[in-house]
Amino acid sequence: MSLRIFKFGGASVRDADNIRNLLRILERYKNDKIVLVVSAMGKTTNALEEVVKEYLESGAEKSRSLLNEIIEGHLNTAAELGLSSEDYKSDLDALVQSAFTAITQAEKKSKSAVYDQIVSLGELFSTKLVARFLQSNLNKVVWQDVRELIYTDNTYREGVVNFKKTQDNVDSVLKVLSDKNRIVITQGFLGRSREGLTVTLGREGSDFTAAILAFCMDVEDVYIWKDVPGVLTADPRKFQNVEKIDRMSYKEAIEMTYYGAQVIHPKTIRPLQNKGIRLHVKSFIHPDSEGTIISMDGLLNYPPIVVIQEDVILMQISSRDFSFIAENHLSQIFTLMNKYRIKLCSMRNSAISFTICIKNPGSEEFEKLLKELDKDFLMDIFQNLQLYTLRYANENLIENLTKNKVVLFEERMKYTIQIAVRPALELIEKA
Ligand code: ASP
Ligand code: MG
Repeated sequence: MSLRIFKFGGASVRDADNIRNLLRILERYKNDKIVLVVSAMGKTTNALEEVVKEYLESGAEKSRSLLNEIIEGHLNTAAELGLSSEDYKSDLDALVQSAFTAITQAEKKSKSAVYDQIVSLGELFSTKLVARFLQSNLNKVVWQDVRELIYTDNTYREGVVNFKKTQDNVDSVLKVLSDKNRIVITQGFLGRSREGLTVTLGREGSDFTAAILAFCMDVEDVYIWKDVPGVLTADPRKFQNVEKIDRMSYKEAIEMTYYGAQVIHPKTIRPLQNKGIRLHVKSFIHPDSEGTIISMDGLLNYPPIVVIQEDVILMQISSRDFSFIAENHLSQIFTLMNKYRIKLCSMRNSAISFTICIKNPGSEEFEKLLKELDKDFLMDIFQNLQLYTLRYANENLIENLTKNKVVLFEERMKYTIQIAVRPALELIEKA
């Protein structure tokens, strides 16, 4: 019997049919032990972000009615799965009650801390539901609160994992539980902060949870079940003729996700690489087909890979006194970017200007950055761009992609080309 870590994301548990499908996949692995990491159902996390907004703007009572809609949705799915709504409802009530108790603590810390107490309900709700459904169909299934396993610092919304403490918890709790059961189901995306509150690991962080647990459990294989056949050469919603990449090295996977490919969370690879754990990216729709295996050995020759980042901002920064952009300026700029946690996508330096491409972080952070930079720098800003990152590209592909586009920035490295574009002006044809 080998132990495997499975991660099922929001799309794979979004409704009763998909949860039944999850059961069928588990039945195919009946000779294995599984630690099952599950995300919030469908778009629940987004809906919970609205609850947070309402809570902060209009108070607890108003936010409760939004939350109740989410709860209703979960209860309906439970009923569709033939579960007793009474039992499941008492799970939900207990979870909501302890979240609202924690909020009182969190309010003394920060808005981000409040955010985490509410948004974390998505994974807690979904795993209780899936656990109850699996328990009614399979033997030896237990639910585990991941906050008793994964410990972080106090960076709410982006918890930094304390691997040493987490390892201790996994040894004393998860290993024991997994020895006694066939399936342990737990939440992705969550942990416990040093202050004892719930913390989240960053949006889309459930992949990372699977990797953390894989690392601490010393497994050989992690499976991320997705609605695509594996890692593809481009986003199939944006390109035709995309290909599945059968094998990929950790290094290539890190490059791709760093540049914004959304197939796996960028933090996922490192813990796996450290222990040589294979990552299988597979389709939950066609669980028989091969998927992509990410490991030490990638392909010798990769096909061209395209990653697109939307909503990118290009800034050309020069000093107000036209002095050279020197190390002291760069240091000042990077310090501010770090302060506002702005993600750099690409950059280039010349004598009198420094050009950066950043992912639009949302108005507030960006406005704050601008205000501070404005004291010492002149800035040209281009918003709403697309940033193409091409790996192993040929001239043909570049030409195709930039047709009818204005190229505002281009940076070429050996295997990677980055191009920031916006649509070219076009005449409107009058009918
Ligand atoms: N539910 C969280 C999110 O939507 C985490 C995840 O799905 O990985 O960001
Ligand atoms: Mg997800």
